[in-house]
Amino acid sequence: MTTPATPTTSWEYAPAPESTKVEIKSQYGLFIDGTFREPRSGRSIATINPANEAHLSQISEADAADVNLAVVAARRALKSWRRAPALERAKYLYRIARRIQERARELAVLETMDNGKPIRESRDEDIPLAAAHFFHHAGWCDKLRWASPTADGSAPEPIGVCGQIIPWNFPLLMAAWKIAPALACGNTVVLKPAETTSLTALRLAEILQEVDLPPGVVNIITGAGETGRDLVAHDDVDKIAFTGSTDVGRAIASVTAGTKKRLTLELGGKSPNIIFADAAIDQAVEGVVSAIWVNQGQVCCAGSRLLVEESIADEVIEKLRLRMRSLRVGDPLDKNTDVGAINSRSQLERIEGYIRDGIAEGAQRHEVSNATLPAKGFWCNPCFFTGVQPAHKIAREEIFGPVLAVMTFRTPDEAVARANNTMYGLSAGIWTSRGSKAYEIARQIKAGVIWCNTFNQFDAAAPFGGYRESGFGREGGRSGLSAYLA
Ligand code: NAP
Ligand code: MG
Repeated sequence: MTTPATPTTSWEYAPAPESTKVEIKSQYGLFIDGTFREPRSGRSIATINPANEAHLSQISEADAADVNLAVVAARRALKSWRRAPALERAKYLYRIARRIQERARELAVLETMDNGKPIRESRDEDIPLAAAHFFHHAGWCDKLRWASPTADGSAPEPIGVCGQIIPWNFPLLMAAWKIAPALACGNTVVLKPAETTSLTALRLAEILQEVDLPPGVVNIITGAGETGRDLVAHDDVDKIAFTGSTDVGRAIASVTAGTKKRLTLELGGKSPNIIFADAAIDQAVEGVVSAIWVNQGQVCCAGSRLLVEESIADEVIEKLRLRMRSLRVGDPLDKNTDVGAINSRSQLERIEGYIRDGIAEGAQRHEVSNATLPAKGFWCNPCFFTGVQPAHKIAREEIFGPVLAVMTFRTPDEAVARANNTMYGLSAGIWTSRGSKAYEIARQIKAGVIWCNTFNQFDAAAPFGGYRESGFGREGGRSGLSAYLA
């Protein structure tokens, strides 16, 4: 084994904060039937910046009566939207995509302030991918009969009114993943963003007004879990699309079971990232960084279980320790920042609970310690655990934070067995320089998405989704369209 030399120079960067000059209203209404209106409930929730706990805005909390207004508007709009010429629907999707591009900086800053993710990620990943999703689906509008052929060659029918519930980890991107295919297929939408990260969805509502999207085609109702529950329970919703935790997914499935409502679920994961001894080690270590520390590890498909071939384990762990030390944790609006703030206090407490469990179960924690963490806000240093047993809680449960569990294997069969030893099946990574081995291992792994010699790559044309407790249904590409066609 070659031990990498400990770097002797430390690089200091001058702060490079992005300007926060974006308009944030003190109060946002619900976006129903093309206009913002006061909630009938009269209630609102504060949304804060998790990096400094500063109050950003009050968002409305929709109750069952508000949800009903949104569903009624979506039902009314469905009549003409589903019959609109395909190119007319495409025109709006193209307009939305272009407007997201034009307002990209503002959306990225807003996303970072509301969510805590590094500006580098919201600027270079979230917002461009959100625009790409609308562009991609604009192109499908007039090609649906090839996406989903019907017996008589006619264009397939939309499902109808879609209730869509999204989480806080990729707020605008998840909104785009949900809205773009639904609209391309001729459905109308009632979307509920997560209560801690609604600001970019509300900005998207302004964009929908700017592009003259017909009223009611997309309605955006903010609120907490109760608002989501009201949407799921509404009788006149034809389909529910949910991304979030497996527990809430299960609860939703039990409500929609026995009804005519269609359902797709994109849930949690505990995805394996497997490094074979014949892999390019430095690239693989870089891949571990993007697998687990991107977005503070708050990624459903995060590579949160690292499986390393025993003969290279010491080398990989040492290189990983050094690489982790170079991560810059801190102000998410600073363009040098690699790891930002955790989205909420409750999520931070959940992650800290898992870290305590890992230590109590006897695993060893390796942590990047950063003395300059801001005094306020929700912060968790990136870390990894060695000495992890497959039965440990940190090896089995989704942590949804910057915490990696490292385990070893001796043979390819053992790697596959360990990789599949989970109730989830969302993604996996395979690192090897032998293409035949990558193919052979990928064939045996039960996961919806498998990356070879890379991790966390997304494209609007590539379907994404899970197996087993990670959910069902696909989003993106041709497969994703079938979730929105009758
Ligand atoms: P969550 O409760 O599943 O939230 C996801 C979305 O569902 C949010 O919009 C949430 O609203 C809403 N919701 C909550 N309860 C609902 C209900 N009974 N019926 C309908 N909608 C409901 O997730 P979380 O509490 O934010 O996070 C908990 C854990 O879930 C995380 O630690 C992580 O393990 C996992 N998670 C997974 C993903 C993923 O992409 N797969 C994303 C986020 C979280 P509010 O947020 O306003 O309550
Ligand atoms: Mg917030």
